Amino acid sequence: MALLEVRHLKKTYTNRFGTNQVEALKDVTFSMEEGEYTAVMGESGSGKTTLLNLLASFDRPTSGDIILNGLPFRKIQDKDLAVYRRKNLGFVFQDFNLLDTLSVRDNIFLPLVLAGEKTEEMKKRLSPLVKVLRISDLLDKFPYEISGGQKQRTAIARALITEPKLILADEPTGALDSRASYELLHMFEQINQAGQTILMVTHSTTAASHAKRVLFIKDGTVYHQIYRGDKSRDE
Ligand code: ADP
Ligand code: ADP
Repeated sequence: MALLEVRHLKKTYTNRFGTNQVEALKDVTFSMEEGEYTAVMGESGSGKTTLLNLLASFDRPTSGDIILNGLPFRKIQDKDLAVYRRKNLGFVFQDFNLLDTLSVRDNIFLPLVLAGEKTEEMKKRLSPLVKVLRISDLLDKFPYEISGGQKQRTAIARALITEPKLILADEPTGALDSRASYELLHMFEQINQAGQTILMVTHSTTAASHAKRVLFIKDGTVYHQIYRGDKSRDE
């Protein structure tokens, strides 16, 4: 069974007067196995953000299904979505979304605090992440005291600490200079090699080229996909 199945996903936005409709996603179907690292690539307006918002369960599709680990999102009630998300999904955003009033350590712990986790368990989970992400010197600092690349590493630690089934990354290199982008992409490859499933949305060819598989999206449709290495096929 695939970890993630996206079936005939469609999203139509209607303006507030009900007079104009935009088909942001037309008929998107793909699946991801556990341990995959997939990039969704497309130009501005192609539907990437819409797809990510649906996968994140921030928004509901007009039709079609998203099934994560055997559970269709449509079976989860709105009131249960926040808890579901916290347990199953990790998010890495372009603009980091760190809280300036919390230290780096407390930012990373926040999703576990919200889940009612014990301090001992939080510390146990943090220590391997500190090594991989090289953030030991940052833990007592505040977000406004660290660089963009350091913020993104903090955000990745916060995403990983809940041990999510799937990491969803939205233009994770978007606010980083080329060196920090390179480091982030290298880190994504490392955590993927350690078994983490990642889906990254990007319009950067450099970023996409680090993923094992790239889905190309245009006008709300996945029109092509490539596999890095020897596997290559047309959609
Ligand atoms: P691209 O695909 O070119 O990266 P995005 O749709 O991802 O464009 O948007 C780029 C940035 O603009 C993101 O940070 C997103 O949150 C923001 N953004 C996108 N649409 C809107 C909107 N309608 N209003 C305000 N901000 C938006
Ligand atoms: P991308 O992230 O690739 O830039 P989006 O998913 O943001 O693409 O947008 C896909 C299409 O849907 C665009 O035509 C955009 O204008 C439209 N769109 C996105 N969000 C909304 C919204 N909230 N209301 C109306 N149209 C939207």
